[in-house]
Amino acid sequence: MPVFPIISLKPEVREYLKRVFLNKELLAAVGHQEAEQRFERLLSCLSHPPSHTCVRASTHLAPVDEIRQRLREELKKQQLCGSSAEVPVEIVPHPCIPDVLLLPVHGPRPVQQCQSEVVVGALCGSAVLRGAHVYAPGIVASPKFMKAGDVVSVFSDTDGRCTRGATGFQGHKVFVGNGVAEMDRAAIFCTKEAPKGVGVRMTEPLYQSPSFDGVLPNLAFLQNLPSVVVGHVLGPCLGERVLDICAAPGGKTCHIASLMKDQGEVVALDKIRNKIDRVRQNAQMLQLQSIKVFCFDGVKAVSSDTEKLKETEGPPFPPESFDRVLLDAPCSGLGQRPNMANTWSLKEICSYQPLQRKLFQAAVSLLKKGGVLVYSTCTVTLAENEEQVAWALKTFPCLTLQPQEPHIGAEGMPGAGLSPEQLRLLQRFSPELSWEQTQANTPLPDRASTDTIGFFIAKFLKS
Ligand code: SAM
Repeated sequence: MPVFPIISLKPEVREYLKRVFLNKELLAAVGHQEAEQRFERLLSCLSHPPSHTCVRASTHLAPVDEIRQRLREELKKQQLCGSSAEVPVEIVPHPCIPDVLLLPVHGPRPVQQCQSEVVVGALCGSAVLRGAHVYAPGIVASPKFMKAGDVVSVFSDTDGRCTRGATGFQGHKVFVGNGVAEMDRAAIFCTKEAPKGVGVRMTEPLYQSPSFDGVLPNLAFLQNLPSVVVGHVLGPCLGERVLDICAAPGGKTCHIASLMKDQGEVVALDKIRNKIDRVRQNAQMLQLQSIKVFCFDGVKAVSSDTEKLKETEGPPFPPESFDRVLLDAPCSGLGQRPNMANTWSLKEICSYQPLQRKLFQAAVSLLKKGGVLVYSTCTVTLAENEEQVAWALKTFPCLTLQPQEPHIGAEGMPGAGLSPEQLRLLQRFSPELSWEQTQANTPLPDRASTDTIGFFIAKFLKS
């Protein structure tokens, strides 16, 4: 892998993760040297974007081949009118996931830095590394006399130290590419209302991939590959009632409704009110009517005995109300890529396990007997993944682990006392394991299945 900074973590978090990746069970399985190499590779992988952009095709609206063709035409148009960097438009269908299209990401490429510097926030910097332009609200510093049309180098303020409105920044920053300013400095920092629209159009991004801004928004939904796998593993059927207990912004909710051809009911809950609007917007954009959205705490989503008698559409719901439940849990998010710096303390990283268990308890209660529960996270710790599975199997004897289809990730990681058979039923997306494939230039569909964000999926049946 070319030289690029590894993710910066608080020392206590790094030590904790190292202990996770060098746990006794794993050491016995793969040996000390391999375990250590995997850990170092993980830190490196996390700061890089995956080697592909994953698009979920809205197959409830059009066949995937038609969407692929239209996407190719749209992206070519974008290049012809010069609104995006020139990239070969290669769109590869995933060999085993029928609604997934993959586009290669090229980088890091050698890009010469220029004199003028624009500094953007870490989230904006990560989006640029995945093909986005710089949106004006993401800009924290720009040259004093920056005018629309100026060529600028864009840097990510990975530690969030740069003061908004600064004219330069000497702190730690990572170069993410060159672009052309679309606004004067004054339009970014000297307005009463927050600035809107593209502030810097990226012309030479460090990682080259198409920008999807406004491209077939109802047909081509950007989603990480493991997140698409979750919908298929849940396997919703037409006419079923499905609960997505932590739904916002609704990527998986919409996928579930799409797999059900919008026939049945998908109930989407999220505790945060302003995030709920995103679920509604996504459902509307993807023309899905079967989604019912509620702002509600999933932990409290099971009705008590007296409330049980009430026949209401919304939460809380009586126990055993749903055919399938997805718990895509709030988590420490340590699998997200690219992430050049994580400023969380160990206490914050470790704070999710109890909440996940409370949500899990509600999810089990709301699931019908014979129903399917899928638990997923976008993190790499044992505490939020395999340890949760071990706890769930012990706490709820009615649950059994089920095989997953498709199973394109690795198996679960040793370290939580699960048997080899149980680990084989789990699906862990471990970017550090795709190292050899990346080095060997393995073709896209194969490499894409492992060079993803870090992610975890477990599937249970309630008997
Ligand atoms: N499934 C979503 C998707 O694919 O777009 C992503 C879900 S995100 C990993 C976890 C979500 O859980 C966040 O939106 C957060 O607001 C929500 N959340 C956290 N605590 C919750 C609770 N007690 N009840 C319901 N939602 C909660």
